[in-house]
Amino acid sequence: MSNYPPSIKNLIDQFSHLPGIGPKTAERLVFYLLNQPKENLASFGLALEHIKDKIKVCRQCQNFAETDPCLICGDKKRNQKIICVVAKPQDLFALEKTNEYPGVYHVLGGVIDPLDGITPDRLKINELVERIKKDNSVEVILGLNSDMPGETTILYLTKLLKQYKIKITRLAQGLPSGSDLEYADEVTLTSALKGRREL
Ligand SMILES: [Zn+2]
Repeated sequence: MSNYPPSIKNLIDQFSHLPGIGPKTAERLVFYLLNQPKENLASFGLALEHIKDKIKVCRQCQNFAETDPCLICGDKKRNQKIICVVAKPQDLFALEKTNEYPGVYHVLGGVIDPLDGITPDRLKINELVERIKKDNSVEVILGLNSDMPGETTILYLTKLLKQYKIKITRLAQGLPSGSDLEYADEVTLTSALKGRREL
């Protein structure tokens, strides 16, 4: 790889830092791009620039958005007193696709996983508690995966949030255990949301 011109080598390096992309795939992607017309490269570059310049984090729900508050938090038609807690933005977008959820969200930025060094203080849990107090929330839906870290987080949040006299529910187990919410289809997610149970 050292024989490549520096700009090619640099782009290969950049690609190989992406998850799931090894050096060989990075090389293939870069040479694919080199064979593209200049306009395509320009719009690719612009798309990257836009996620850097336009995307911010909504201070209420911690999701990525182009506005703060985001369109969901700012939507007066949505029930601001029901908060669905998810691990990552992709889970939020997956649940949104069902068109069935009337409330708002809170993105934790991960799940508790001591083996991976992720302790509760590294997640947006304080922000969640502050929000529940400020908005007088009536229900928190724990929209987390039913794998080990997901269950640990559900247990932790259930204990923590009990004192706030709110309904705490989790998604129904229509989701196969160990599965990732992000990849569940809309029908499964809709039934999981409807069949949520109180904790
Ligand atoms: Zn928001």
